Amino acid sequence: MGATLTLHDDIAVITINNPPVNGFSLVTRRELGQALEEAAENKQIAAIVLVGAGNVFSGGADIREFGSQQAWAEPNLRSLTRQLEFLAKPVVAAIHGLCLGGGLEFAMGAHFRVAAPGTRFALPEVKLGLVPGGGGTQRLPRALGVEAALNMIVSGEQVDVAILQALPGQRLIDRIITGDLMEGAIAFARERAVDIGQNGTPLPRLRDLPAQHPLAEGFLQFARNTARAASDRFPAPVKCIDVVETGIRHGFEAGLASERDTFVALMESPESRALRHAFFAERAASRIPEVPESTPLRNIGQVAVIGAGTMGTGITMNFLNVGIPVTLVEAKPEALERGVNGIRSIYAGQVKKGKLKAPELEQRLALLQATMRMDDCAGADLVIEAVFEDRAVKESVFRELDRLAKPGAILATNTSTLDVDAIAAVTSRPADVLGMHFFSPANVMKLLEVVRGKATAHDVLATVMSIAKKIRKTAVVSRVCDGFIGNRMIDQYGRQSGFLLEEGCTPQQVDRALESYGFAMGIFRMGDLAGNDIGWAVRKRRYVEKPDVRYSRLYDMVCELGRYGQKTSAGWYDYQPGKRDAAPSPVIATMIEKFRADTGRKPRDINDEEIVHRLVWALVNEGARILEEGIASRASDIDLVYLAGYGFPAHRGGPMRYADEIGLYNVVQDMKRFSRNPNDDATFWEPAPLLARLAAEGGRFT
Ligand code: NAD
Repeated sequence: MGATLTLHDDIAVITINNPPVNGFSLVTRRELGQALEEAAENKQIAAIVLVGAGNVFSGGADIREFGSQQAWAEPNLRSLTRQLEFLAKPVVAAIHGLCLGGGLEFAMGAHFRVAAPGTRFALPEVKLGLVPGGGGTQRLPRALGVEAALNMIVSGEQVDVAILQALPGQRLIDRIITGDLMEGAIAFARERAVDIGQNGTPLPRLRDLPAQHPLAEGFLQFARNTARAASDRFPAPVKCIDVVETGIRHGFEAGLASERDTFVALMESPESRALRHAFFAERAASRIPEVPESTPLRNIGQVAVIGAGTMGTGITMNFLNVGIPVTLVEAKPEALERGVNGIRSIYAGQVKKGKLKAPELEQRLALLQATMRMDDCAGADLVIEAVFEDRAVKESVFRELDRLAKPGAILATNTSTLDVDAIAAVTSRPADVLGMHFFSPANVMKLLEVVRGKATAHDVLATVMSIAKKIRKTAVVSRVCDGFIGNRMIDQYGRQSGFLLEEGCTPQQVDRALESYGFAMGIFRMGDLAGNDIGWAVRKRRYVEKPDVRYSRLYDMVCELGRYGQKTSAGWYDYQPGKRDAAPSPVIATMIEKFRADTGRKPRDINDEEIVHRLVWALVNEGARILEEGIASRASDIDLVYLAGYGFPAHRGGPMRYADEIGLYNVVQDMKRFSRNPNDDATFWEPAPLLARLAAEGGRFT
């Protein structure tokens, strides 16, 4: 499949046909090139209409060719667009659905563009750390004006055709066709053919238009400052502006040359490699080993959530947001009232900020049934339990669910640490049970760990992955273990951060190092935000279950002082009541100093590089174990968990990817060096067998 040409009297219709999104693969490009030649040579053909097969015009470059030689092989997108532009007969792009990236760049080579209502346009290359590479940086400013075009190029966001058509003086959209697109486009093409044939009007080409801005210098400076402020870790947005500027100052061809050089250079940048890794990681995560993509799904029309606490209310909102009714069951009337009020007040806040319309608030709340009766969830297709983290409480809830849930209902637990298989075992239908581990706040955080039990049925997993997509979560499958993927790794990161304090760091020094590496938040600020008591409860259990595993006493000492974090206005930092600004705490400084003196430790200076590598390699080593044990199916799943749920810097691509970038040999060398530190824990730094093997072989995780 690639491109086909059909004749409609004197009009040739060339259809781009490469499912699922008509990506410009090499085969498609070759066939398009041939079809265009044929249309140019055939004297019967007066004009050409370009359309996309299926639901979209084109999603752009074929991602399967990304980064390969094939992507640049002739005819590449730039050559093909040029071929279109220099064709001596009118070419009309008839656009519907989506017109993205290379799709839009190609369409801008046509002499005219008509579109169906609702069509969305974007140049999303910046989201992969790139500039558009097929002439988009030069033709879009000529079609829309510099300001509107730069907005699209630098943000990468999709824009509706109606907004584009309304831009004063725009030359991107010649007509919106409300009826049959193909018929309308053919009629439009015929009109243009007659007009051009009879009046000798030259074919309009975007390349011939000027790219202008009345105050170009000032505007571009402003745009640069804004782009830098928004994403100082990524070079691409500012490069987009540079390339557009070259086109403004030195003309179309110079702009095109600069675009190509910049594109090629950015393709090799670590930032773009990291973003492309994350992009592919997201796609890979939806493929579950042994679960075919064709697995039939169960229907989810009604959801029930048990427990109206912090998590239950957040989870509920995810479904209300996409129009799925939820029955929210709670044991305590005051908790139920608090939960429902909480949901209402979050929506009200969104209305106030203009993010939600008032009638939408009512529509969403109308989908919510709040109840104290468990029996009310008997009709639910999916039940998510979010009661206290207590095995006995959860098991009793699951026994009841087993009694009352309808046959075929999916039963999920939001447990953070408990054994999903043990919970499933109290029911007579363990195949219907799995974990859905949301992160707090559950209505905001993107990550969802889908915990696959030993008995979980394939269609249960496939259905939950699909519903996750519907509620716009980034879902990653984890097998059962203590902490699943994310929290099991964070435990090692937490342990190591305690050792850093013992040895000489302050909490603020560790946090600063992590934040300048790119983490959204350092570990101690994160602890204060989440509540230090949560980890304390987990550690108390671990002290019994795994007495050999050493944690720094400092972590417990903070909790023993009642310093749980922001909620008590005191944690690793001091807080003004009700405020989130973290101030270094003299109490903590004294506590740490006293601990060092009592245990005979002489503090030493530890630089930022050592801090970051000790913490990130702690994640990586546990990640390697998780991979080896089959808890995660692939290293990129682990990266996705960290990018979507733990604020890992996007420009580093995730811990496993970052380790690959540094080189696993170097990672293991660092770990050996750390293990020789008498104040660290030598067993902590024993490389996981998989890591040791890959390092020795010169292999990689990703
Ligand atoms: P929470 O204490 O805020 O809420 C639990 C609610 O469940 C309470 O309102 C309680 O009254 C209710 N409840 C208890 N037994 C019940 C029963 N039999 N029937 C109906 N309602 C019942 O707790 P939370 O923070 O929302 O945590 C809930 C679950 O989510 C836990 O398993 C926890 O480990 C997990 N989790 C929490 C977080 C987090 O950051 N808070 C993150 C991920 C997962």
